[in-house]
Amino acid sequence: MGVGHSSLSSCSVDSLCITAFIAQPKTTSFSNSNRQKPLFPTKKQSPFAVLKIGTLNCARVAGEMEIEKGIAAAGKPIVDRHGIDDGLIQKIVYDALVWSSLHGLLVGDRNDQRSGKLPGVGMVHAPIALLPTSFPESYWKQACELAPIFNELIDRVSLDGKFLQDSLARTKKVDAFTSRLLDIHSKILEMNKKEEIRLGLHRSDYMLDEKTKLLLQIEFNTISSSFAGLGCLVTDLHRTLLNDYGEDLGLDSKRIPGNTATGQFAEALAKAWTEYNNPRAVAMIVVQTEERNMYDQHWLCTVLKERYNVRTIRKTLAEIDSEGQLLPDGTFLVGGQAVAVVYFRAGYAPIDYPSESEWRARLLMEQSSAIKCPSISYHLAGTKKIQQELAKPNVLERFLESKEDTAKLRKCFAGLWSLVDSDITKKAIEKPELFVMKPQREGGGNNIYGDDVKETLLRLQKEGSEEDAAYILMQRIFPAVSPTFLIRDGICRKDHAISELGVYSAYLRNKESVIMNDQCGYLMRTKVSSSNEGGVAAGFAVLDSIYLT
Ligand code: ADP
Ligand code: MG
Repeated sequence: MGVGHSSLSSCSVDSLCITAFIAQPKTTSFSNSNRQKPLFPTKKQSPFAVLKIGTLNCARVAGEMEIEKGIAAAGKPIVDRHGIDDGLIQKIVYDALVWSSLHGLLVGDRNDQRSGKLPGVGMVHAPIALLPTSFPESYWKQACELAPIFNELIDRVSLDGKFLQDSLARTKKVDAFTSRLLDIHSKILEMNKKEEIRLGLHRSDYMLDEKTKLLLQIEFNTISSSFAGLGCLVTDLHRTLLNDYGEDLGLDSKRIPGNTATGQFAEALAKAWTEYNNPRAVAMIVVQTEERNMYDQHWLCTVLKERYNVRTIRKTLAEIDSEGQLLPDGTFLVGGQAVAVVYFRAGYAPIDYPSESEWRARLLMEQSSAIKCPSISYHLAGTKKIQQELAKPNVLERFLESKEDTAKLRKCFAGLWSLVDSDITKKAIEKPELFVMKPQREGGGNNIYGDDVKETLLRLQKEGSEEDAAYILMQRIFPAVSPTFLIRDGICRKDHAISELGVYSAYLRNKESVIMNDQCGYLMRTKVSSSNEGGVAAGFAVLDSIYLT
């Protein structure tokens, strides 16, 4: 188990001063996909230490000894966060909020109904960590080194249609969403259609397991890898704060690695657009009907336009269905406009397909010659079931020749099992706290933890149905816990937090030529240690950067 923190004393708060920032903590997130508890519950429920701008009256952590143990295990904390002067924190928080507002480190405010549809309306700063989180340089290098290897692996897996279909065959029977994706994939296989130009904008997520000291992969995202735009800004913000306050804090801004995720993702999209070779064509972003994380996406489009002069259009799947047209030569038109690249920031969850219209749109795009990011094959290659299949003995070797590369990948694999493995399900029923149960879903809030693992496994056993094929079991990873300042809705709280490092990567290939295979910046996400899930958009985590130790 990770280091717990049940002994936080609650705090009294003198709320005043900057009225814009003294709203009560929100109980829900800015995401459509929030199905679990938010990161910050209401004040009444909150055991957390709260800092309000103006007057600080912050709780002290009763279980400090326990927490310090956790930190010591992870390496020295970058700064003694119990000891930072409250007045100094107030100043830094204020500056962080000003900086975020001025530099577009923003999301739509869920309290404003129009904020998910209309840019420039109802904006609030993104949830952020006040200071970067320490992360050992050797693990950082390891994560960066893995990026191009994973890219190549996914590309090769995507080409093995039989492997994808066979691996997901049992899941298909019980999971309607995966089944629809597989149907599209089958149709493409039947057409014998080859994707000559393949583009992947990925993010591989890791946690550093405290006990084993191993960097272990949580998952590999091949669709809608979000926060490249805002992640870069958090890095810039933290560097700025350390330039201004580094001396007081004993921190050096140069220890925060540069983050060029936005620029490199834009570069990959631009290069794909160039390969498509139609100067009049646009890049199309597939979006949800409401998107409070739109500024993250707009950052990418803005760079794409300003640096590469590539225009983008934003369309929902329903709009693509009504406006889309497939020409006999494979050209895909939307509203009469040729589309070179389709970049999905929607389409990864059942909620994105409320009717047949959306599925028609997905198939139409897949049948076209437009470059899909991701193609249906890349999408399937990024499912949790495939992650589990790839972790089986001798499977990586089917796709990669280099022993060195397979060893590097395997080293970051956590324990992953299918529920067919009766020894493991037995263990998971006995010690459910050591496992996470995952369905084939993306976007946060879908996994099963703790006693629910046991209950679900027992129910599946009792029913004897094939529903077990909808899930995989994964070893639970326990990162070290450290005290962190988290800011959401203008309110700064000190809490015990754990972090997940995401490393972005881009892959572009045209036939035999690999045009791009690069690591592209990073995203640290930090969440209170008591929260199981980690999504920022889903309301569980804050955006963060890393301080190399
Ligand atoms: P999603 O596709 O919904 O993002 P993930 O596999 O990334 O699914 O899981 C969501 C979150 O749950 C992660 O960001 C992480 O915080 C937590 N999580 C997932 N797997 C594990 C694990 N094996 N150990 C500990 N936490 C995990
Ligand atoms: Mg995830």
